[in-house]
Amino acid sequence: LVVPGADEGPADGDGDYLDASLPIDERVADLLGRMTIEEKVGQMTQVAVPAIEAAPADVREYGIGSLLNGGSEALHDTPEAWAAMIDGYQREALDSRLGIPLMYGIDAVHGNTAIPGAVVFPHNIGLGAAHDPDLAGRAAAVTAAETRAAGIHWTFAPCVCVARDSRWGRTYESYGEDPGLAFEYAGPVVQGYQGGDLTANTSVLATAKHYVGDGGTAYSSSTTGDYLIDQGVTTLTEDELRAIHLAPFRAAVDAGVGSVMASFSSTDLGEGPLKVHADEYLITDVLKGELGFDGFVVSDWQAVDQISDDYAEAVRASINAGVDMVMVPFEYQRFISTLLSEVESGGVSEDRIDDAVSRILTQKFALGLFEQPNGDTSGAAAVGSDEHRAVAREAAAASQTLLRNDGDLLPLTGQERLYVAGSGADSIGRQTGGWTASWQGSLDTPTEGTTILAGIQEVAPNAEVTFSEDASAPLDGADVGIVVVAEDPYAEGIGDAGAGEHDMTVSEADAAAIATVCGAVDCVVIVVSGRPIEIEAHLGDSGAAAGVDALVAAWLPGSEGAGVADPLFGATPYDGRLPVSWPRLIADEPLNVGDPDYDPLFAYGFGLQTP
Ligand code: BGC
Repeated sequence: LVVPGADEGPADGDGDYLDASLPIDERVADLLGRMTIEEKVGQMTQVAVPAIEAAPADVREYGIGSLLNGGSEALHDTPEAWAAMIDGYQREALDSRLGIPLMYGIDAVHGNTAIPGAVVFPHNIGLGAAHDPDLAGRAAAVTAAETRAAGIHWTFAPCVCVARDSRWGRTYESYGEDPGLAFEYAGPVVQGYQGGDLTANTSVLATAKHYVGDGGTAYSSSTTGDYLIDQGVTTLTEDELRAIHLAPFRAAVDAGVGSVMASFSSTDLGEGPLKVHADEYLITDVLKGELGFDGFVVSDWQAVDQISDDYAEAVRASINAGVDMVMVPFEYQRFISTLLSEVESGGVSEDRIDDAVSRILTQKFALGLFEQPNGDTSGAAAVGSDEHRAVAREAAAASQTLLRNDGDLLPLTGQERLYVAGSGADSIGRQTGGWTASWQGSLDTPTEGTTILAGIQEVAPNAEVTFSEDASAPLDGADVGIVVVAEDPYAEGIGDAGAGEHDMTVSEADAAAIATVCGAVDCVVIVVSGRPIEIEAHLGDSGAAAGVDALVAAWLPGSEGAGVADPLFGATPYDGRLPVSWPRLIADEPLNVGDPDYDPLFAYGFGLQTP
């Protein structure tokens, strides 16, 4: 496929669209008027770096509108190396006939974790526990600065999903089960990412995702044990869908969010389950019409392929539904030629294409990419700075949720002889979770930070600390035990991949550590997890001699383990409140406040406070 006109050379430079003094809508109209249909379809195409790195000139040849690396793989160690890579692709884009810059997107969902030295914030569930949208907005602003400093223009965040069943593997990406939470957070977080001015080298384009109903999918465990809840079907009435899942998008749109990502999931609002990616009513009528969203809609990763086995039908349905940019992400020639054939045969109208391309170009102009297409790494020194880490530590501390405190064991004085155990005590991989350096996160993540153990030593320098992950070291003389139990990292999953493997119970090793430590001394159990886990059986009765005296939900606190230690020793108060209902048994899910026979272990909103 050869783009007609591509050999006519770059624009002569006197196009109105190059005139930064003109209003953006005039620049968009001028540029659109010069574009061939091939160039327009190219702008609607988002390609994964691994698919194009062997043929970078394809960016120019096809006029590719956007690149992503996907999975947040740690490809480069420094902001400068990231910017240099993106600048290389940008040169190809600028060499195209009209010189339209590309836009690079990444999953900087709790920090720009593609750089090992970047700050990692608590995942959204912890920010929800903190009940502090302003703090979440400040965290987003730091993430934006650390992302733009690496030449990256666009983050696929915030996830404003409302998680209604903790068995969903992406519950940790939710601010909580109450739509009011996501509604309150969406605006400040979008503003935190985008700042007042998208051209600033501290701002990135934000993405409200996943539109709509991703957190409401119904759990179904097939005979093979598959967890179909991720990417599943949201079974609700339209009123419920609107009241629970649409509200946060309204707030994001009102805050000026530049892009919205469609959800892999389906709804059963119509006659049968329909993928949101093919739902013209939800995307065009509701989001763009009723909510007045004037940014662009990007598909999720290869999600268009799920609409139909017939690829042409899938592409036609998604673009006609209102998807503006397709995260292809691999077979871009196939996507481009398919969409061109659809336009030629009348399956997709040119008006629809023009609308999609205008929306995309509007954001590129807003980002200032035509004036400053290359990465501005002047903010690189701030990546991972003490100032940025202080915000992450503050957020981790504010998210700590105290669920039991018999005999006012907490806060500790800092003078004790402490015995620390459990799989989450000394593990950056577990405390940062998914979307950290790599898609699913990992136990040997390259991410730099302070473990909870190191945080305890830092906050309580006078304590005498013995660490024994499996609690095999003798407990002699310890005053207090701290057992940090944890989930292993994961990001998302369906079937037997990813989160489906995790059963939301305390691992045997962590359970043994609780039994050993809490059977011998006063003890605190800290739970590092992205969602409630089944823990009642390990706690013992409140006040029982061998029971757990204090219980803390630490969520996925991020790179600053000292934030977990701060309230433990009274440097800050415990002030977090549960953003989700904590069930007695996982089988009690879905469990949400207001359900008939609501009988949680700890209710939504619960959290003890310390001075
Ligand atoms: C996820 C999105 C993410 C995208 C790009 C998908 O698998 O559902 O949340 O933004 O990948 O990495």
